[in-house]
Amino acid sequence: MKVAFFSTKSYDRQFFESVNSRYNHELTFYDVPLSIKTAILATDCPAVCLFVNDTVDAATLEVLASRGVRLLALRSAGFNHVDLPKAADLGIKVVRVPAYSPYAVAEHAVTLVLALNRKIYRAYNRVRDDNFSLEGLLGFDLHGCTVGVVGTGRIGIVFAQIMQGFGCSLLGYDAFPNAQFTAIAHARYVDLPELLAHSDIISLHCPLLPETHHLINATAIAQMKPNTMLINTSRGGLIDTAAVIHGIKSGQIGYLGIDVYEQEEELFFQDLSDTIIQDDTFQLLQSFPNVIITAHQAFFTRNALEAIATTTLSNITHFEQGEPLENEVVYHPPASVQKTV
Ligand code: NAD
Repeated sequence: MKVAFFSTKSYDRQFFESVNSRYNHELTFYDVPLSIKTAILATDCPAVCLFVNDTVDAATLEVLASRGVRLLALRSAGFNHVDLPKAADLGIKVVRVPAYSPYAVAEHAVTLVLALNRKIYRAYNRVRDDNFSLEGLLGFDLHGCTVGVVGTGRIGIVFAQIMQGFGCSLLGYDAFPNAQFTAIAHARYVDLPELLAHSDIISLHCPLLPETHHLINATAIAQMKPNTMLINTSRGGLIDTAAVIHGIKSGQIGYLGIDVYEQEEELFFQDLSDTIIQDDTFQLLQSFPNVIITAHQAFFTRNALEAIATTTLSNITHFEQGEPLENEVVYHPPASVQKTV
């Protein structure tokens, strides 16, 4: 099947071309993101392959449908960027990669915890500058800390297991609690206010849904312990960035590690080192010494890229052959709480 890929980078081409030797689809790679202006590139392609920051709104979907697109193959787990009701109206199916490597994302969340705690970014630069002072590098033992895990699905569970290995106690919060979490030693479910009030480290692993938008807002931050470490590798919209900046200034948030940012579409996955960044909020966040920002790289391991390419191309083959789509994203009415990501 002819597939138009948007927002592609060299690594997408490398992994998809290699895995496609088993599937034999006709792949065309475009660097540009999908938008109403670029949708025309999908002409005569029944399938398009998209990533997290492509624009998949109603207007763009109409152009895609008019060009013959019948399948959106998302090479991501999250699908909050897709106008699902509109896609359903137009008869366009949506498939995704529900799980590729929970280890990749969970391990990156742990990386942020460790780097923030021991200030590895400062230490690295200091030693390169022949500055061997330890002033300002003081950390704390993770052993004995309480870690709050918001969303105990595939990634949240792996994160919890790793943190348990450090000797942490775990508090979980989930709209759909599961036995895998409580099977971890020193792990128990609590409600969100209790998790916020008692955790030294809070890591977000739930999907972005209307009910989780700005889950971490001024009220939630006020309920946290002073000096809490907040980690977000899920979706930027889970955090009210202005409230978090206020929390950092007041000392309520002592450390912030984020791999996602609410306005990341304008920034991430591009080299903007030669340009003037217009996003003042992002620049202010960057200026704090207790903040680490990575640019949506948590998924970026070779294991995950291979799994993403395999599941995506297999999803397309199932669609082409009229087989049931096990990874289809089915539109649910907005009032219902969804289990899907
Ligand atoms: P998952 O579906 O396995 O787990 C999500 C968990 O969140 C589930 O247990 C679900 O019950 C829970 N949940 C749903 N609604 C909730 C609510 N209102 N409050 C609290 N919990 C709720 O998903 P996963 O594979 O663990 O992925 C988690 C998130 O990680 C995804 O939503 C995605 O946005 C993000 N992600 C980020 C990257 C990255 O590179 N940074 C890569 C993959 C996934």
